[in-house]
Amino acid sequence: SQDRVFNFAAGPATLPENVLRKAQSELYDWRGCGMSVMEMSHRGKEFLSIIQKAEADLRTLLDIPEEYAVLFLQGGATTQFAAIPLNLVNPDDPVDYLVTGSWGDKAFKEAQKYSKAKVIWSGKSEKYTKIPSFDALEQSPDAKYLHICANETIHGVEFKDYPTPKNPNGVLIADMSSNFCSKPVDVSKFGVIYAGAQKNVGPAGVTIVIIRKDLIGNVQGVTPVMLDYKIQSENNSLYNTPPCFCIYMCGLVFEDLLEQGGLKEVEKKNKKKAEILYNAIDESNGFYRCPVEKSVRSLMNVPFTLEKSELEAEFIKEAAKEKMVQLKGHRSVGGMRASIYNAMPLAGVEKLEAFMKDFQVRHA
Ligand code: PMP
Repeated sequence: SQDRVFNFAAGPATLPENVLRKAQSELYDWRGCGMSVMEMSHRGKEFLSIIQKAEADLRTLLDIPEEYAVLFLQGGATTQFAAIPLNLVNPDDPVDYLVTGSWGDKAFKEAQKYSKAKVIWSGKSEKYTKIPSFDALEQSPDAKYLHICANETIHGVEFKDYPTPKNPNGVLIADMSSNFCSKPVDVSKFGVIYAGAQKNVGPAGVTIVIIRKDLIGNVQGVTPVMLDYKIQSENNSLYNTPPCFCIYMCGLVFEDLLEQGGLKEVEKKNKKKAEILYNAIDESNGFYRCPVEKSVRSLMNVPFTLEKSELEAEFIKEAAKEKMVQLKGHRSVGGMRASIYNAMPLAGVEKLEAFMKDFQVRHA
C-alpha cells in the first residue's frame, strides 16, 4: 500500500501484507468468539484449533514425517543454542560445530558449557565467505551431532546441500532461523531443525523446533523445565502459557505459503529476487561488491559493500528517502545488507535494483 515502506530488515522483518490485513480484520473479535486471540485462554477450544492448524499446515509445507515432533517455544533461537546440548548429550559427550558465520559461532560457544563441543571448521579467517567441501571435513568419529547454521544472516552464507554426520549414530542439527520455509527441505536428513519465527514466518516471540521423536527424553539433570523437549512435547507446547498471538500469526503465514502453492513455488520466487540483486552487484564493474563465494550466496540476506565506502551512508540515506529502509549491514561487518525474505515482494527488489543502478550512475 501507499503508506508501507519496503523493509529490508534482517529480523524482525517484513510480513505479508495480506496476513497483516487478515490479522487486523480478526483482531477485535476472532471469528465471532467475542474476543481477540490475545485475550483467549491457551487451553480453550479456540486457541487449540489455532495451534493445531498451525502445526498441521507447517507439517504439510515442509512435509514433516510422523516421527518428528513440532514444538512452539520461547526464548528465541538463542535459547536453543543451550537447549540442544542439554537435551541431546551428556556434559562429556563430543559434538561438532561447523562454523560458517557469527550465529554458528554463538551456538558453539553456548554448547561448550554443556558438552565437549568442537569447531571442526571455521570460516572466520576468511571473514565468513565460504562453506568448505564436506569431504574435507574432519568430523569427530564419535560426535553425537553435527551442528550447522543453514543460513548465516549477517554474512549471507547459505548451505545449498548438507553434510552427513560421520558417526552413524550421530545426527545433523540445523539453525534455520533465517531461511526457514524459504524452500523445500528434506526434514528426514536432520535430527533437529530450529528457527526463530521473526524472519520468514511470523513475529518475534516464538521459536519453532522440529525434532525426531527418538531423540527426546535424555535431558541433562540441570536442564530448566522450559528447555526440556520431553516436557514440551508431552504437553503439545502448552506446558505453560505459550506466545499465543505469535503462534496465531505464524499460522496465518503458513496458510499464505500454502496458498502460494507451497515451498517449491516460494523458492522459485526467492531465487528470482536474489538473482536480481546479485546480478546488479556483479554487473556493476566493482562499484558494488558481494564478498561471499558465488555458490553459497544466500537467497535471504544479500550483503554488499561499495567500492567507495565513504558513500555507504549516503546510499542508505537516499534509499530510505525512497521508502527502502533497514539496508545498513550488521554493526559487526558494516556495508549494506538487503534481507529479502519470503514476504519481500518482487516489486521491492526491483525498486532496489533500479535505485542501485541510478545511484551508481550518479556517483561513479
Ligand atoms: N540464528 C540465526 C541464524 C539468526 O539470524 C538469529 C537472529 N538474528 C539467531 C540465531 C538468534 O535468534 P533470536 O534473536 O531469536 O534468539
